[in-house]
Parts: sequence; structure tokens; C-alpha cells
Amino acid sequence: MSENDLYQDYDVPHDLRFKTIDIVRMGGLKCSCVVNANCLDGLFEAPNRIIKATVELSFSVASNEILVLGKVQGQREVQCARCLKMTLQPFAEEFTESYSNKQEIIDIMYLVRQTLALSEEIRFLCKPDCKGLCPMCGQDLNVSLCKCQPENLSPFAALKGKFK
Ligand SMILES: [Zn+2]
Ligand SMILES: [Zn+2]
Repeated sequence: MSENDLYQDYDVPHDLRFKTIDIVRMGGLKCSCVVNANCLDGLFEAPNRIIKATVELSFSVASNEILVLGKVQGQREVQCARCLKMTLQPFAEEFTESYSNKQEIIDIMYLVRQTLALSEEIRFLCKPDCKGLCPMCGQDLNVSLCKCQPENLSPFAALKGKFK
């Protein structure tokens, strides 16, 4: 019997709030599950959102604390800060936390939500070299170049005519 087989009868709580006493009694736990989609709502600022996530957990019991190593991975739909296109991206984040044996519940959902919220980048890009939109005509420069002249792109260009 492998180490994993020992734990296969354990029902992972859907809200990821584990009873400390269960983990201690089993002497640890390894498990994985799909994160309830409702729990992913609102973690990113719209229109960015997490579409799906699964979590892998490994609990180990020490003398008076429980250590958790975890990994959450899935797919997110995010808007490119340059061309505004929505793209699907895979993501994977790892986390680690320790809990006292004395607390009743180990709230992994809180930890997962915190990890996901912190993984939101200030500027998502559809690709590292995205050319973005032309500020004059709005053309997506990844698709084709427009006729706007580079000198017109200066923010002062529009003012030029006004002071003649
Ligand atoms: Zn882009
Ligand atoms: Zn243009």
C-alpha cells in the first residue's frame, strides 16, 4: 500500500475547511480537488476573471502544528493592457502555511482565495511583445500597421495647429 492509498477514503470538504482533528488522526493528508466556481468570483477586477482552478494539498502533522503545502492551478481570462483583447492563460501558484493543532478548522479556501487574489498582475499582456492599439485610430497594430505617421503620435501634435 502506497502512502496515497491510506487517504483515498477521505472526503475532501467542498468548502476546503478541514477539521484539524481529522488531519491529526490520519497523521497527515494528501488530496486534490476542484475549487467551487462560486468561490472564484470577484477575485480579479472585471473583466479579468478566474475560470477554473484545482488545488493539490499536502498536510503534514508536526508535534504541535500542521504544515500545508499547496498548489492551485487552472485557467484565467484576462484583458491585455495594450491591445485590450481577452485571452485565456494557464496559471499555477504555490503556497505554504502552518496552523496550530489547537485550532478547530483549517480554512484552506481562505488561503487559496488569498493566493489567487495576489496573483492578479497590474498589467496582463496577451504576449510579451504585444504592439497594442494605435492611439490615433485604434487599429490593432498586431494585426496590421495603420497609416498614422509616427510624428503624429506625440501628445503635443494635436496642439500644434491651435497656436499658429
Ligand atoms: Zn495585447
Ligand atoms: Zn493609426
